[in-house]
Amino acid sequence: MPTPPTFDDVRAAAERIRGHAHRTPVLTSRRVDEEVGARLYFKCENFQRMGAFKFRGAFNALSRLDADQGRAGVVAYSSGNHAQAVALAARILGIPSTIVMPYDAPEAKVAATIGYGASVVRYDRYTEDREEIGRTLAADGGLALVPPYDHADVMAGQGTATLELLEDVGELDALFVCLGGGGLLSGAALAARALSPSCRIVGVEPEAGDDGLRSLRSGSIVHIDTPVTIADGAQTQHLGVLPFEIIRRDVDDIVTASDAELVAAMRVFASTMKIVVEPTGCLAFAAVRRLRDELAGQRVGVVVSGGNIDLARFAALVGEA
Ligand SMILES: *Cc1c(COP(=O)(O)O)cnc(C)c1O
Repeated sequence: MPTPPTFDDVRAAAERIRGHAHRTPVLTSRRVDEEVGARLYFKCENFQRMGAFKFRGAFNALSRLDADQGRAGVVAYSSGNHAQAVALAARILGIPSTIVMPYDAPEAKVAATIGYGASVVRYDRYTEDREEIGRTLAADGGLALVPPYDHADVMAGQGTATLELLEDVGELDALFVCLGGGGLLSGAALAARALSPSCRIVGVEPEAGDDGLRSLRSGSIVHIDTPVTIADGAQTQHLGVLPFEIIRRDVDDIVTASDAELVAAMRVFASTMKIVVEPTGCLAFAAVRRLRDELAGQRVGVVVSGGNIDLARFAALVGEA
């Protein structure tokens, strides 16, 4: 039975990714603080290499493979950012990579993955099981499967974003983190529990897929159909087993944000803070805006998870009246 990572693993991951991942900036905005009525610290992983935090976990996991496995290569399945992360980390480390991606993945993400030198295999996300396709490729080709969230090295790597945030700004009253399969949230929880013990840790998932909230309440992992939402990075059907062990122990609450709230947050990011954030990357900020009354006067961390979105799609979303 694999065991979940600890805060020591997050620290070790931070050493491994040093010099390869960017230490992304923490942005603040007086105007946004005034609007929300709290002091917000945005950890901007939209500025991470390949455009999202997923590079952290992928690089940490791939750098732990032995030489034989590195020669054989790796396979990953992903709706986008994990694919690019594994492809880029593999190229940096000289490891061959194969990526399983849905037909309806954003074209910018598919093109970037191929551009990083990966072989791409497509599938239908509504009728086919990507985990099964990934497992078959792994078994047939001797490739190591790098899961997007249910993996201790991936989770520890994702935790380095919050580790850096807390190193930079000190303790927080609350931390908001978007939630798909739970790799980012579980890693964040490890860092926050260690460095800011009294911080309220909140996961944010799309309203169309509140399986995380129902899992936290019921105490066991709830499975749902693929949720229909613009937050394509959080269209997961269930939390990972290892992330859930940490989430149920360390996370205080899980809340949701609607697609309309994501678009509203995306507009504030673009117009006030001048940054491009993909819909999934807006989950945490959207929840903070909704919950502003209970956050009044607090120091709040907001993990901005990624910025990969086709420009035409970005324009269509922020341009809607
Ligand atoms: C993958 C991803 C998420 C969700 O992360 P999990 O570790 O699956 O919970 C959130 N935002 C972006 C931009 C992502 O790529």
